[in-house]
Amino acid sequence: MIVTRFAPSPNGPLHLGHAYAAVVAHDLARARGGRFLLRIEDIDGERSREELAEKFASDLKWLGLTWGGEAVHQSARLATYAEAAERLKAMGLLYPCHCTRAEVQAAATAMGPDGPVYPGTCRHRAADPAGAAWRLDVGQALEITGPLTWLDEIAGEQAARPDLFGDVVLVRKDAPASYHLAATVDDAADGITLVTRGADLFAATHVHRLLQALLGLPVPTWHHHGLLVEPDGRKLAKRRNAPSLADRRRAGEDGPALADALRAHRFPAGISLASSLHGEP
Ligand SMILES: [Zn+2]
Repeated sequence: MIVTRFAPSPNGPLHLGHAYAAVVAHDLARARGGRFLLRIEDIDGERSREELAEKFASDLKWLGLTWGGEAVHQSARLATYAEAAERLKAMGLLYPCHCTRAEVQAAATAMGPDGPVYPGTCRHRAADPAGAAWRLDVGQALEITGPLTWLDEIAGEQAARPDLFGDVVLVRKDAPASYHLAATVDDAADGITLVTRGADLFAATHVHRLLQALLGLPVPTWHHHGLLVEPDGRKLAKRRNAPSLADRRRAGEDGPALADALRAHRFPAGISLASSLHGEP
């Protein structure tokens, strides 16, 4: 059975781009008789964002979307992330790193999908593990797994290129897991068979596929959909005045009608669907 999920972070209110992503994930599951789940990616915040998470649920209900069971919270899964990280450490694949963003930027000689590629400064340095971030030795990991492929429903079969990112951070200095580790562990734990998300995360899948191989996790199929963009081609974001779904609801807009408009690719003036974004942070 197909299982999809919508996995917003409670960093701010949901806007039209989130609604589009939720509708895509919801409809792909419904069209194939599958399940649609809601996950709150809340490992970032120092304080509880419970209230915002509840608002997310209200927004989705307003759009006419329904999901199976209770929403899963990443903050309830910290032990699972730690366990995955410990397994990779036991395999000798993680190393501690204290480099700051500025230091990485200064030392980098290549650009990757997420910006400057970490040049492996601490790979053989045996830095103090206390308070460190933990990076994956991608070269060594690929020696274990050999070449990997993954399947995107739209783009077809892809050769996995986690090397494009360099040695990614899996355990952050300020959080028990990076997006790469948490999302991979969560999708496996939730039994997700079709991972849907915006095309801006297409390259991240190279890293996720590698983590699945290292951790012996099931391999889903992916569906990277287009992103709603403003006239300048930049992704919709609250900071640039995109009205939130809550704003629209308060203004009396009809939620299910909005969801139908998104399904039909009828977007408000100035907003369009881009299949890929380049250089967007
Ligand atoms: Zn370092």
